[in-house]
Amino acid sequence: MRTVEVPAMVNAHSHAFQRDLRGVAERPAPGVHGGADDAADDHAVDDFWSWREAMFRLADALDPASIGVVADAVYGEMARAGYGAVGEFHYVHHQPDGTPYDDPNAMAIALAQAGVAHGLRVVLLPAAYHRGGWDGSDVAPVRGQRRFCDPDVETFLARADALRAWAAERPGVAVGVAAHSIRAVPASWLEAIAAYADRHGLVRHVHASEQRRELAECEAEHGCSPIALLARTGFLGPRTSVVHGIHVDARDVALLAESGTIVVSCPTTEGSLGDGFLPALAYRDAGVRLAIGSDSQVRVDPFEEVRELETGARRERQTRFALLAHHGDLWAELARNGRASLGLPEAADGAGTIAVDLGHSDLRGVARHDLPLALATCASAGVVARSSTGAAAR
Ligand SMILES: [Zn+2]
Repeated sequence: MRTVEVPAMVNAHSHAFQRDLRGVAERPAPGVHGGADDAADDHAVDDFWSWREAMFRLADALDPASIGVVADAVYGEMARAGYGAVGEFHYVHHQPDGTPYDDPNAMAIALAQAGVAHGLRVVLLPAAYHRGGWDGSDVAPVRGQRRFCDPDVETFLARADALRAWAAERPGVAVGVAAHSIRAVPASWLEAIAAYADRHGLVRHVHASEQRRELAECEAEHGCSPIALLARTGFLGPRTSVVHGIHVDARDVALLAESGTIVVSCPTTEGSLGDGFLPALAYRDAGVRLAIGSDSQVRVDPFEEVRELETGARRERQTRFALLAHHGDLWAELARNGRASLGLPEAADGAGTIAVDLGHSDLRGVARHDLPLALATCASAGVVARSSTGAAAR
């Protein structure tokens, strides 16, 4: 077998438990419509928000043992598919009624242990969640959200302290911090989380600009876009990752570029949820770094994420001079930015390396020097002959 070593990909955005929605959250609920235009209200539409109801039901049934089982399955898939590291954006913290477990980090620890068992570098990103949204004042969390929530940001950050102390003695595990979204926490929490991350040298992540409804709600509460709010609260910066970043205007892109913020794109999930698509070439032109994530786990194949990002960008301006032509080696570029997103070592092998089989049918006839072009356009996880853990991948 003729193989070539390349950097393992970094999965900068994962919710392990959502793997169990794969293939089973595709049937519209009775009575829903096909699109926003013909529906009387948002909840009668099959879209991100109706999918979220199914996700809440799934999350409601989890406990530390069962989240460990699903994490074991999906992290195994990641390791075999060519990922070497995962950023687990974790928000199912408490028991279903919102009461903390005896160890308040029991769920996070179960996730980390499952990832390490598969040889992945795991960066836990505990995510702050406080409310169901904002409608003139804080909206109380609904039943499915209670276990995500903390009463105040100090309680959340104390748990992050405890998780960092636990991880300090575990090789292969690191901790960053996250705000779930601008709808789930008030502005004062964003400020506190950003300051905490700065104080301790941690990476910080947040979901933003995924849905148009989120933009309208942010405008109503804060009088600005989600990205402008993140800038105002000190959340943006070179150690910050904004996940999705789809519905942005030129000012938002400039704020992300000026601050050195990374945008994490999750193309297969964003396509599955009907979120929209990344303005990838606007980001390229502004010099904003891009990374990728498997997010909902609808697909666990980094080659597919890279290809969707590239082909989406080509469609954006009907050109073949998109991300790949600009960077030359898009796989390496996304892996490098993923390492930065998770605070991993900068070196090319900072998340491990994988062996790619040049004899695989996806790559047959591709010259060695053209491999970077093929990895971003025609390869799949099937080309991985050896995972970053050293195990045979297939
Ligand atoms: Zn997400």
